[in-house]
Amino acid sequence: MRGRGVSSGRVAAEAVLLAAPVREPDESTVVAPGDREAEASAIEWAAVAVADQLRARTRAATGEARAILDASRLLASDPELVAEAADLVRSRGRTAARAIWETSAAHEKGLAALGGRMAERAADIRDVRDRMIAEILEVEMPGVPEREEPFALVASDLAPADTAALEGGNCVALVTEQGGPTSHTAIIARSLGIPAVVGVIGATGIPRGAVVLVDGDRGTVEIDPSSSRVTEAKAASLVVPFDGEGVLADGRRIPLLANVGGAAEAVVAAASKAQGVGLFRTEFCFLDRADAPTIEEQVDAYRGVLAAFPGQRVVVRTLDAGSDKPLPFANSDAEDNPALGVRGLRIARRAPKLLDDQLRALALAAGAESALVEVMAPMVATVDEARDFAERAREAGLETVGVMIETPSAALLASEMLEVVDFVSIGTNDLAQYALAADRLLGELGDLNDPWQPAVLRLIGQTGAAGRRWGLPVGVCGEAAADPALAAVLVGLGVTSLSMTPRALGRVAAALAGVTGEQCDAAAQAVLRAATAVDARAAAAAVLNGE
Ligand code: PEP
Ligand code: MG
Repeated sequence: MRGRGVSSGRVAAEAVLLAAPVREPDESTVVAPGDREAEASAIEWAAVAVADQLRARTRAATGEARAILDASRLLASDPELVAEAADLVRSRGRTAARAIWETSAAHEKGLAALGGRMAERAADIRDVRDRMIAEILEVEMPGVPEREEPFALVASDLAPADTAALEGGNCVALVTEQGGPTSHTAIIARSLGIPAVVGVIGATGIPRGAVVLVDGDRGTVEIDPSSSRVTEAKAASLVVPFDGEGVLADGRRIPLLANVGGAAEAVVAAASKAQGVGLFRTEFCFLDRADAPTIEEQVDAYRGVLAAFPGQRVVVRTLDAGSDKPLPFANSDAEDNPALGVRGLRIARRAPKLLDDQLRALALAAGAESALVEVMAPMVATVDEARDFAERAREAGLETVGVMIETPSAALLASEMLEVVDFVSIGTNDLAQYALAADRLLGELGDLNDPWQPAVLRLIGQTGAAGRRWGLPVGVCGEAAADPALAAVLVGLGVTSLSMTPRALGRVAAALAGVTGEQCDAAAQAVLRAATAVDARAAAAAVLNGE
């Protein structure tokens, strides 16, 4: 099968399908009086089975995950919940599944009414409900499967919370029918360092239990490969080590930084010798939150990342909620065109306190750690937005302030942006999406969401030229920064640092070590004359490799 390889590496493992969500059980089915006792006891059995499952998983887990599992286990064995559901079966003839659904809904409502921390427990109730219903109906538990053995997860698409749940599990590859190269599924796969292929039409039809060889470089999925192909795949998935310094052949330094979404990833990035963090996606810390995190909770989350990089640069991005990463506490309304809607910095129009609290929390975290903290805003389109953001950030006590260049408007105004901020960082994923007017989540439009598209390269060139004019830093933190073939071109276009998934650091460093600044400039000039993405790639290769 073919799709689009979005996260490098090759791995062979058993294919496991992401189970469909549990549907609301039918209300109209009435259990005959003679069968009700047996139906009620199914609830008791399911409760025992789910509590056992959770107990086993609690034993294997650590830290926060352990506490959450243990709380869910207690819920599953809650005699009140079981008794109420069994009662519904006996008195009203509800099916066991329906009775659990109704009882959970009542408990959930009660918790939601209490608000705050208690309201968040509603998600745990739904989790236990789904486990019990799946047990009763003898179907796979919805969401990311739990497996003792390594597996390749196959899905139509993954929600951000599903992908977040992959961390620390046994999932070693991802295959999805939907999704483009810059979707968050792809980004998380890269940060977890597991191969991923998206846009694979018919992937969910892969037979259960089949072994698949997922090649994230070639974008292929082989079903039941030969053992020699599997051995070959193992040898090919090695990461190129990074020695901790991005430098051109002529000695010019190009810092190579990491993209992270939280403390655990920051620790991995530091171990990979990243020279700092070029993009800390703060929204990833709060994807599962129903209400806004408090300042204290934010300080904790940010300090976790800063602590991994003492004395080094850490660029923190304010919440980029909305579009494909909605946060319930920031994006309340459904929008027809969320990628063009109230996302990123635009949320501050409606909820200025959310931004000010975040800036305050960040300033407190920065004061408590030795990392050199910089802050930047996502989804900026106008100079007024940039100026307003810079004022707020400085007022909160943050000195070095920047904006992301993700809209064509921001790229065209880069020089004016740099009159009001200290640096810019190009988000090539969104810049390509908005320049080509192509949804980055649509696998079908993957060829348009390509940083090698000449229009995107020219917008990057315009931004780089503005940086050179003012002598100010221009970073790239979109996925383009992880493309070794593009790295030299970006430097020639005026980019001064590159930020990427830690696994890509070694390959990008190796590509830069082989070229001089002069060659980078020549490659940049060549791609700026190209009319198509194919021409741009060929022009760069001709200058850099003499191809
Ligand atoms: C980008 O758009 O390139 C970027 C780095 O931000 P995100 O991928 O989180 O939207
Ligand atoms: Mg973006």
